[in-house]
Amino acid sequence: MQERSWRSPAGAYALSPDIHVRAIWMVSPLTYHPLKDMDELIGAGYTTQMPIIPLPSRMEPCSGAFQLTADMVILADLPDRWNAAYLHDLLAAPTGFPLPVRAFDQAGKNAICLRVDPALASLGREGYRLAVSPEAVTVAAPETAGVFYGLQSLRQLLPVEVEERQPVSGVNWQVDCLVITDRPRFSWRGFMLDEGRHFQGKETVLRTLDLMALQKLNVFHWHLTEDQGWRIEIKKYPKLTGIGSRRAGTSNGFAGQAHDGIPHGGFYTQAEIREIVAYAAERHITIVPEVEMPGHALAALAAYPEFSCTGGPFEVATHFGIFPDIFCAGKESTFTFLQDVLNEVLELFPSPTIHIGGDEAPKKRWKACPDCRRRIREEGLRNEHELQVYFTNRIAAYLDSKGRRAMGWNEILQPGLARNAVVQFWVRGRAQMLQALRKDQRSMVMSTFMDAYLDHAYTLMPLSRAYRYEPVPKELDEKEAVSILGPEFPLWTEWVPDRMRLDYQAYPRLIAMAETAWTSRDRKDLGDFCRRLPRFLARLDRLGVRYAPLREVEPARIRQLFGIFSIARPQTKISG
Ligand SMILES: [Zn+2]
Repeated sequence: MQERSWRSPAGAYALSPDIHVRAIWMVSPLTYHPLKDMDELIGAGYTTQMPIIPLPSRMEPCSGAFQLTADMVILADLPDRWNAAYLHDLLAAPTGFPLPVRAFDQAGKNAICLRVDPALASLGREGYRLAVSPEAVTVAAPETAGVFYGLQSLRQLLPVEVEERQPVSGVNWQVDCLVITDRPRFSWRGFMLDEGRHFQGKETVLRTLDLMALQKLNVFHWHLTEDQGWRIEIKKYPKLTGIGSRRAGTSNGFAGQAHDGIPHGGFYTQAEIREIVAYAAERHITIVPEVEMPGHALAALAAYPEFSCTGGPFEVATHFGIFPDIFCAGKESTFTFLQDVLNEVLELFPSPTIHIGGDEAPKKRWKACPDCRRRIREEGLRNEHELQVYFTNRIAAYLDSKGRRAMGWNEILQPGLARNAVVQFWVRGRAQMLQALRKDQRSMVMSTFMDAYLDHAYTLMPLSRAYRYEPVPKELDEKEAVSILGPEFPLWTEWVPDRMRLDYQAYPRLIAMAETAWTSRDRKDLGDFCRRLPRFLARLDRLGVRYAPLREVEPARIRQLFGIFSIARPQTKISG
């Protein structure tokens, strides 16, 4: 392996999230077997011939090589010019070659050919075929999404200097001949970013989308509202951002602690959101917005306390955790408000699925609220838990009437939940989850807390554990698992104030997770992945990604044993 220098995150992070000892999770680090050392796997040197992550379904090497030269053209037979323009921009900057885009020519020599080919329909809407011969490169797919993923594979076959955004001299722009036939395992390959706790801003979001595309991830779950901040402009309720997007400071801990007195805030205007949504769509990424309800709503209630049970007043939260004040499920005006908010959300986001949270909603206020008690009585509900089912179903029915479907964290998975609501499984309720998959064919996205949460310290979730995550529960056979849409990997940002920390938490683990999302189970191999990883990281170097150094991603066993003390979120403290 080539000698290279690893960078550490800034000194400010020398104290890792390990210091935030807040909750001990029921987990045994002894139930899995971490690697002794990363070097054990990558020390043999970089040997894999096909350096693509996620690993494609099928790769057949052929003899010879394709040489990219200045006199080549891009030939496109596509319903739109976007993929061709994307490829042109990708290659023209580092090579300095003009690479004009022309209409497809059957002869296709000295060219990179991009085609939509209905004959390849068996590859599905995201599959593709990439053929490299000495004369030409051909990317063909049944739909444009597949062409885009074929280009991402071609990008990884080219020298890593292709990621440079200015001409690089002395590079041999050569690709060994091969044929790749590829399609994803899951249709939902998600990454979630929480911007409620820390606002990151448009540039970081656009960059996140670019990096997702490189890893063939296709769902960006955008967590936009929280106790600590409301991040989306809603024109009908300007105080949501006027008041709700700013907090007075940030506490380096949970309840009862003083904050740092440094105001934190930020939100996306509707114009910015339109730009981001369009940018994602070009990269075949669906943005699923999340507007949390009924819990994690303190920022909204600080702006509009009349939609709470008590009437407030409230302040945007300055510390993290779970708060008792949530949206009142008894007042009709709450539903009018939420539907108005959703109307604007639906205008901005074409996603068929809209996330409404539903997690960590304490019932303390609902128990004491006369409006909520009247609702329970009038609707013939037994308790506050059934009131949350009523609440969820009412919002789900509203979304349904607009041609969308609701999605929520698995706390919403209660008897009587609307049939078409998608559940995101993260923690507890495993028996209900299995039953919902087996008996009801409930659509589900898998984000198992201990294996999928990128906010964990590396001591708790080393790279090997991230790679070994299997989204289909072992209790299920293939038929029973058919309604699992795919995995999603959340990054909560209580301890992620900026892009550098975001990079450190997400990479390289998200690369491993992307392989789980795309590559079939039987083709996954940790050792092979680790041999392909350094070249992928060399790409990230050029993209300016400050990933965690490999010597930190697989901590010594003894540190992993203490990883259980490093959970940064009080997941277990649901009160009421
Ligand atoms: Zn109430």
